[in-house]
Amino acid sequence: MDRTRLLQVFSEDSIGQDLTVCGWVRSRRESKGVAFIALSDGSTQETLQLVVPAESPAFTELPRCNTGASIRARGVVRESPAKGQKIELEVSEIHIFGDADPEKYPLQKKGHTLEFLREIGHLRPRSNTFGAVFRVRNVLAKAVHDFFQGRGFMWVHTPVITSSDCEGAGDMFTVTSLDLEDVPKKEGQVDFSQDFFGKRAYLTVSGQLEAEFMAMSVGDVYTFGPTFRAENSNTSRHLSEFWMIEPEMAFADLQDDMKLAEDFIQFLCTQVIEKCEKEIAFFEKFFKTISLSQLQDLATKEFYHISYTDALTQLEKARKKFEFPLQWGLDLQSEHERYLTEIVFKGPVVVTDYPKDIKAFYMRLNDDEKTVAAMDVLLPGIGEIIGGSQREERLDMLTKRMKASEIPLEHMEWYLDLRRFGSAPHAGFGLGFERLVQYITGMHNIRDVIPCPRAPQLIKF
Ligand code: ATP
Ligand code: MN
Repeated sequence: MDRTRLLQVFSEDSIGQDLTVCGWVRSRRESKGVAFIALSDGSTQETLQLVVPAESPAFTELPRCNTGASIRARGVVRESPAKGQKIELEVSEIHIFGDADPEKYPLQKKGHTLEFLREIGHLRPRSNTFGAVFRVRNVLAKAVHDFFQGRGFMWVHTPVITSSDCEGAGDMFTVTSLDLEDVPKKEGQVDFSQDFFGKRAYLTVSGQLEAEFMAMSVGDVYTFGPTFRAENSNTSRHLSEFWMIEPEMAFADLQDDMKLAEDFIQFLCTQVIEKCEKEIAFFEKFFKTISLSQLQDLATKEFYHISYTDALTQLEKARKKFEFPLQWGLDLQSEHERYLTEIVFKGPVVVTDYPKDIKAFYMRLNDDEKTVAAMDVLLPGIGEIIGGSQREERLDMLTKRMKASEIPLEHMEWYLDLRRFGSAPHAGFGLGFERLVQYITGMHNIRDVIPCPRAPQLIKF
């Protein structure tokens, strides 16, 4: 089909050109015998004003050009005499692809709530808000690859179905082909030896362990794929299916890891500032939860660094009464994280060196033998966005930590092999992609930054 995307119509000098555009009608109004249609095709935040003069043969199609109808329009681009837009299309031909009954089309009115739009997840991408969210998401996804590819990292594809259940990142979904009406049992337990893989299988919670063996062969790698957690956390920051980016670097320590995380966030932020000017302006104007200047700060200012122990001291000094207790050895809760980044530092903070007992077995033990070389990056409004660490590369230390955490060693011989043969210092982190999109768009609820959110009791489509 001969069709010019609206993004192209707006970004090039198209005045005087005879063009065909396709899209969905946002609104239609008539004034002094001339009809005006706002057309959107999702390629840009802007709508194109179609001007249909009464003498145009297209005029007869107008009654069908209702909000939500999909149409093709041909015409000449000209400078717009009206305020509010630079250009418009003077239309000579309109073709209707699909009608939308104005009595029934759910996206009629302006100013729907986000809750209502969540109910019509299949139509919400047509709204200003969700069009903007998904364009930003796309720019960020490309930027993720650009960042790592530009630094020589290899994109590795770690499995979605896994048999390792000891990552400890969260509760896992079981993947099975057993007949649920007649589950085979052995000694009172489900007999997974009769299941598809001959043992119990799960949806992955993280690609880290597999990324580690790739890093121990090819150097620097990253994963970018879906991960799953069956935790019953009905929060505005948790999904049951989310996308995670997990770089893993060979010959790297915690300092390298933090530097990579900060460069990464700043690069992504810069890309969005460059490529999503209209979207950012939209979020700033309508939601007021994020602003260009906040993004510019994030893209340029240094991150604060603080150890877990010092962070605890800061929190103890706080005037705020926290719901969860503060005690050395207990994990920081979301309220603590947000206090640090929003009140104490008023900016991004990297918290390092957490007590070993609250962190995963693979994190490298520090010389104090109490803490591990871990780091979490906290952002205002979101709290934790990145969790990472230098990995334990010493066989004896790792074995000890695994035994202490009751990890069955026999399932993890392959992981120990990496420490037996040519072990090397290495480090990496995980960034939750949706949390990043959330921060950058300022969307309050994580369910509003992915097309089909999955959460407890929520699986539409
Ligand atoms: P949280 O304490 O916020 O639940 P976590 O400690 O479980 O996070 P990690 O296991 O370290 O997180 O996962 C790495 C990153 O993945 C986190 O920093 C976060 O950005 C993201 N993440 C974790 N769980 C979820 C989830 N359920 N939905 C969306 N993103 C998540
Ligand atoms: Mn969690």
